Amino acid sequence: MSFNLATILREPRRAHPDKPLCHLGELTFSYAQVDEISGRVAAALLGSGLRRGDKVAVQLPNVPQFLFTYFAILKAGLVMVPLNPLLRAGEIAYHLADSETRVLVTFELFADEAVRGAAGVEGVRTYVVNLPGSDRRPDGTRSYDELYAAQDTGEIAPTEADDTAVLLYTSGTTGRPKGAELTHFNLYMNCTVGGELFGFRDDDIGLAVLPLFHVFGLSSVLNVAVRYGGTIVLVPRFEVEPVVAAIERHRCTIFSGVPTMYFALVQADLTGRDLGSLRVGVSGGAAIPGEVIRAFEEKVPGVVILEGYGLSETASTTTFNISAEQRKVLSVGKPIWGVQTRVVDEADRPLPAGPDQVGEIVVRGHNVMKGYYRNPEATAEALRGGWFHTGDLGYADDDGYLFIVDRKKDMIIRGGFNVYPREVEEVLYAHPAVVEAAVIGRPDAKLGEEVVAVLSLTPDAQVTGEELVAWCRERLAAYKYPRQVRVVAELPKGPTGKLLKRELKKELG
Ligand code: AMP
Repeated sequence: MSFNLATILREPRRAHPDKPLCHLGELTFSYAQVDEISGRVAAALLGSGLRRGDKVAVQLPNVPQFLFTYFAILKAGLVMVPLNPLLRAGEIAYHLADSETRVLVTFELFADEAVRGAAGVEGVRTYVVNLPGSDRRPDGTRSYDELYAAQDTGEIAPTEADDTAVLLYTSGTTGRPKGAELTHFNLYMNCTVGGELFGFRDDDIGLAVLPLFHVFGLSSVLNVAVRYGGTIVLVPRFEVEPVVAAIERHRCTIFSGVPTMYFALVQADLTGRDLGSLRVGVSGGAAIPGEVIRAFEEKVPGVVILEGYGLSETASTTTFNISAEQRKVLSVGKPIWGVQTRVVDEADRPLPAGPDQVGEIVVRGHNVMKGYYRNPEATAEALRGGWFHTGDLGYADDDGYLFIVDRKKDMIIRGGFNVYPREVEEVLYAHPAVVEAAVIGRPDAKLGEEVVAVLSLTPDAQVTGEELVAWCRERLAAYKYPRQVRVVAELPKGPTGKLLKRELKKELG
């Protein structure tokens, strides 16, 4: 069936062309403007020789050009590869090569690092989005402004509903980051059902501080707002003051965030500030403590926090607590319409309900990705038996509410950002003094988890913990490098020689 996700722009654009789609500081872009500009960028990308299905990496913070490029890519039938702007050159090179990216769109502040990354990959053309009033960019790159020069043809490519729209990098349950292939249909269904569930209206104004390069920001904030004709307020990075000021200035009604953001707002002095416009706070990405929910709702009367659960591979939402009346605090809610979840044992047999029936959560439905790009083995493993295996451990209660209790996979979530231990361990193993490395998460009141490396070193090693931390900091994005290094004589191992990270975690916890 022919379908393109970019069509979500068209209905609100027809109904109210001049309505703001997004604000950023003093800047505002209406539905008509985003539609028109993205049409020009789409024509320019196609005019530069890209063909349907080609990959365009987008490494931008939450700025309007993210929206222009995203809708341009969809309209042109290309595939977006969102990248975290904080990635270092080696990480960027890996993502560009693995995804077979042809064009990289990056931001002035990150362009030098991006160009170093792209240099290691053949045939990548780089465009730089500049800060207002600046035209500084590294040699060999092009200005993003060039992409505004083409004429908007108004065309939307007749993609198939199950064509890949977005390739989203995540490690899944194990290994290096892999590209989860999210289709036009996956993303359309998720924003349609997700927005309907908490009654997103066209007069809603959502605060977009969650990064749009992550599935939560992309699908549950941007796509939902456009699908239902609302407005978003872009905030490029989370800090309490700009967030509070943006909510006050634009009278935001919806706040979507990860638990650390709620935590920071609960801790902040908000005397005299007016957050009274907020009606819903959506929380996801990690478990939000009941105490934080209570404190936030007390501080901001009239708001209700609704927690949901999802993954990159599930186009964002899988389960959701849909309303104040129907939520259960500490639960991640029930599967959304059109999605089924099960809790299974080690042999993939379904477990009955009950808190003592903890198993892996598996999912099927319209939200589940097509697979991991160019990785049939990991795809077959993750989707075995027709169910997507999340790597999360939990149970269901008698009413069908799901509770997450632990993670089977290694992934660490630090302040809402995923850290894949394997990536950090590879950097550590590259150090001549390191013999064995295990990177794990230590519980942290503020960040949820903190990254810790446990190492054994060569007998003659002279290196200090600080030097090893610095080694990682040079090679990894700022949220990933270990803040603490512990040196031990030998790491605990199981009978097969596999490192027993759970043992280490117990020691740290
Ligand atoms: P990502 O692929 O970046 O979206 O990360 C997905 C992972 O975040 C899941 O597999 C869970 O481990 C975790 N996660 C997401 N939402 C929640 C939640 N509400 N409670 C606990 N963990 C969550």
